[in-house]
Amino acid sequence: MVSQMSSDPLHRPVQYLRGIGPRRSPILEKYSIRTVFDLLLHVPRRYLDRTSVVSIRDLRRAVETPEVEDGASLQTEVRRDFTVLGDVRSFRVIGFGPKARFVLVLGDSTGTLQCVWFGGVQYWKKAFTMGEVLAVSGQPTAYGGAVQFVHPDIDRISRRGESPGDVEAGTVDWAARLNTGGLVPLYPSGQDLSRVGLDSAGFRRVIHGALEEHLDEIREILPPRVLSMRRLIPLSQALRAAHFPKGESELREGLRRLKYQELFVFELRLALKRRAAREERDGIAFGIRSALARRLVDTLPFALTRAQVRVVKEITADMASPRPMNRLLQGDVGSGKTVVALLAMLIAAENGYQSAFLAPTEILAEQHFQTLAALMNGLPVSVRLLVGAQRSRLRRDVLEDVRSGGAAIVVGTHALLEKSVAFERLGLVVIDEQHRFGVLQRAGLRGKGTNPDVLVMTATPIPRTLSLTLYGDLDVSVIDELPKDRKPIRTTVSDESAKASVFRFVREQIAQGRQAYFVYPLVEESEAVELKAATSHMHYLQDEVFPELRVGLIHGRMTTEEKDAVMSAFKSGALHILVATTVIEVGIDVANATVMVIEDAERFGLSQLHQLRGRVGRGADQAYCILLTKHWIAQRARRGATLPDLSLDQQRQAGRRLAAMAETTDGFRIAEMDLQLRGPGDFFGTRQSGIPQFKVADLVADSALLEEARTDAFAIVESDPVLNRDEHRALASHVKTHFADELLKVG
Ligand code: ADP
Ligand code: MG
Repeated sequence: MVSQMSSDPLHRPVQYLRGIGPRRSPILEKYSIRTVFDLLLHVPRRYLDRTSVVSIRDLRRAVETPEVEDGASLQTEVRRDFTVLGDVRSFRVIGFGPKARFVLVLGDSTGTLQCVWFGGVQYWKKAFTMGEVLAVSGQPTAYGGAVQFVHPDIDRISRRGESPGDVEAGTVDWAARLNTGGLVPLYPSGQDLSRVGLDSAGFRRVIHGALEEHLDEIREILPPRVLSMRRLIPLSQALRAAHFPKGESELREGLRRLKYQELFVFELRLALKRRAAREERDGIAFGIRSALARRLVDTLPFALTRAQVRVVKEITADMASPRPMNRLLQGDVGSGKTVVALLAMLIAAENGYQSAFLAPTEILAEQHFQTLAALMNGLPVSVRLLVGAQRSRLRRDVLEDVRSGGAAIVVGTHALLEKSVAFERLGLVVIDEQHRFGVLQRAGLRGKGTNPDVLVMTATPIPRTLSLTLYGDLDVSVIDELPKDRKPIRTTVSDESAKASVFRFVREQIAQGRQAYFVYPLVEESEAVELKAATSHMHYLQDEVFPELRVGLIHGRMTTEEKDAVMSAFKSGALHILVATTVIEVGIDVANATVMVIEDAERFGLSQLHQLRGRVGRGADQAYCILLTKHWIAQRARRGATLPDLSLDQQRQAGRRLAAMAETTDGFRIAEMDLQLRGPGDFFGTRQSGIPQFKVADLVADSALLEEARTDAFAIVESDPVLNRDEHRALASHVKTHFADELLKVG
């Protein structure tokens, strides 16, 4: 939400900037650029200087001297692109129809270079003008005596005869600036933006114009104390330095200031939210002495780990307080979160309150239901299961039990919180979110008449940096210890040629009474095709590899009854091998299954592999995880060969993931590595659900800055909860303008 006409130029809608207008602003809006300030946070993706440009003559030499095989390891960075600066000499379409390609000839004082695009010809035909200066980046190849870039990145540096209607600021001669040793900013863009003139050069022009026009009016928003303590340069100076730096050090300081601010404002919002939550007093103050909980602990076949005992204390302290609990329970797969949740639910029951236990899928809800029933082992507490697949009579019966309060614990999916389900007295909601990041909106719960305590459980060990941002307004408990009887799962990476010995190993394990999973990735676009692939794979294993054993199949398209039947057959030992699609990722618990073979393992993400692996090693027996990859991907990657459908870079990444899996079973280390391998995703990249997108800051690279920003933001809210001190005025108005939708009652 942007207030109509703020006096601060930074808060004005971007539409009113010269060079934007009503035609471009809706497209910017798609990229969350709404205000002038948002636009100014659209920082360059890189900067060109004289040293980052090669002459076409040198480029030709690079192509003609074949690269020496350097035995590049997996750690080798992706090859750096070359950048050439030149003017457009000619362009034309060659060929017809689907074979048509667009060829543009670029020249500098040392020679010429061809840039080629296959496809998109109609677009490219109109994209250039003769004589304009471009910076093009790519990997050079030799083609019939010419040097080529195929599908290079292009940035317009300066255009001959700017098109009418553009701002005058566009007349800066960037090519000349580059020649005199200056830096030229290159901006991220996209086709929809380019189409309305907001390519790299377009952004450079409007941002340059905006700064020229408004730089003097830009007000500082960070408190002076923070500026001096963290040695940050003023906002206006930082914005100029980030976009049009005079040199490296100025650029660094400019970016640091902008990153800090972005992280600081984010943390400030968390601090305010958390503060508001702490003021609440309308929750339930449970009595936490519970005979039921005591009896459970006494009858469990194991002793709780120290970590479990600690988190139970943290949770019960929350329950005893009239402030509604909003706690995240984090613990690696197999760390024993369920029993912790059960203890909390028993306390609620003893106080005469109902608990809802939410699982991400129906199959997991059923499993939790069974697990809870088994753990309770005769305690006089009624547990009911509510899932969509139930017959209507049973369902009515359960609903009635929930409404009357007869059911103390109700297990189901999020559907439990729908309006149609009425609780007599809901006191506690436990959400087993597994690796999902979503956090429940408390608002919906109040509609249920009470203000229940909420405990969210996640099996994804979240790197500290991420948990500071994702869950910054929640209290966090961590089970950082596995039950003592667990042996680390032995993990190996194998190539397909070793399949025979993998099968032999599986057979041996089964002969010893164990069971095995074969996990099969779903990679096709269509579910029907996937299903066929998984099914035929099951038949292959059953008929050709393990004819003497019983092989079953479970996949996401089965009905609940079908899944149930397969799962109970596997649990009971009637099936030796379960072929599964990733359905099993989220929490299937069969302690006797000790072998997991993951096929086409290169297709899975690191955290996903870790989750999958967590399905074995849930008992005291040694467990094994075998990562099969069609071609031992790391070797292939080293030789530079490519799989047909994975790029070289994707293969390297995959190789690193598999190596990480073999190296450690520590979920926190895996999570850190995953974040580093994947990166938090850039502005125009795919958005991972729930992870906040920063425009300037980078959660991995800037984690130290994040911690500073967090410390400062929380300290400020502590000392000035509604930000009404003079030195916080500008900050308050900034937060209010940009985040008006939030529960922020700033003075
Ligand atoms: P997760 O944290 O992945 O949900 P679970 O709660 O499913 O883990 O626990 C995994 C297994 O470990 C279950 O079979 C559970 O009964 C068992 N378990 C839980 N706590 C302990 C403990 N302290 N000692 C031994 N086994 C435990
Ligand atoms: Mg669990």
